[in-house]
Amino acid sequence: MQLKQIGEFKLIDIISRQVSPTASVIKGIGDDAAVIKIGKSRCLVVTTDILTENIHFRTEFTTPYLLGKKTMAVNLSDIAAMGATPLYYLVCLTIPSHTSTSFVRNLYKGMNYTAKQYGTCLVGGDTSSSTTKISISVTLIGTAKSKNIIYRNNAKKGDLIFITGSPGDSSLGLMMLEKSNGRIKKNNLVKKHLDPVPRVKAGLEIARQKIASSMIDISDGLAADLKHILEQSQSGAVINLSQLPLSPSYRKNVSAYTNQFYYPALCGGEDYELLFTVSPEKKQSAEKLAEKTGIPITCIGEITSCSAGLVILDENGKKFTLKRSGYTHF
Ligand code: ADP
Ligand code: MG
Repeated sequence: MQLKQIGEFKLIDIISRQVSPTASVIKGIGDDAAVIKIGKSRCLVVTTDILTENIHFRTEFTTPYLLGKKTMAVNLSDIAAMGATPLYYLVCLTIPSHTSTSFVRNLYKGMNYTAKQYGTCLVGGDTSSSTTKISISVTLIGTAKSKNIIYRNNAKKGDLIFITGSPGDSSLGLMMLEKSNGRIKKNNLVKKHLDPVPRVKAGLEIARQKIASSMIDISDGLAADLKHILEQSQSGAVINLSQLPLSPSYRKNVSAYTNQFYYPALCGGEDYELLFTVSPEKKQSAEKLAEKTGIPITCIGEITSCSAGLVILDENGKKFTLKRSGYTHF
């Protein structure tokens, strides 16, 4: 059997069946980051993400500096999705020998810039030559109070579903880069794709105020990542397309790139926004958080019973069918 016949998530499932976590592992494979108990009330929160040339990035579309910033941001986003504080990171670099030293210098400048903004610093890594493409893998170590950590598996029927920011902008930015072969004038959609801002502060505040029952960051696409919460929480959900907080730039540009108006917002990956569920009593706290952080936070639907699955309603309240919910490798 080849990987392309089973897909990324079945592969992760096969891998996870081979491990038996030790007692201190509160959460192993299956969330945005692993959670390991290190004291009476504290945990380490650890995540790793690879960015591979021509899969996650193209050197013609970005700069080494922006690539460094993004590599850091995608890892910070997973720590944010647990409601944890990032602390230290390691970098594994696989890189062809003809690469210039200035590429590497600027890559690290970008990583360090973003890392520093969140009080995170580089403590090591590994380097290997590559026969073909560049691959950058970051492992980020964070910490949190055990009782504040937010997992994917605790959404409850009746909880409201919130997202930060506006979904689909990054995916549309990528479409613009691809269609113009990187020549498009930089705009906020392209910026969202090349230089995403991780929602670390919002994630921490959501955790500190115990606003969310479950949380994930949107890396594979809104629908696909919501499904991860639903599977792990054994719940269903209804989301309303009329409530999606699409950006003005998205609304203005989307039809030039796809005839499926909602497709990038529902299925496009790499938003690096937070998707979280909130009990009705905490609704106001979620709304106040938007005022406090200055980050748009919008309710897009509600958690339902498991048997309902994910139901998407269009502007007329009719069922909307998705062909594919998001990005998956292989
Ligand atoms: P995210 O999109 O939040 O980065 P992923 O979908 O990449 O999460 O991964 C889901 C879970 O599977 C995580 O717990 C991750 O650590 C784990 N995982 C992914 N790939 C592997 C692998 N090759 N070996 C072990 N665990 C993996
Ligand atoms: Mg994630």
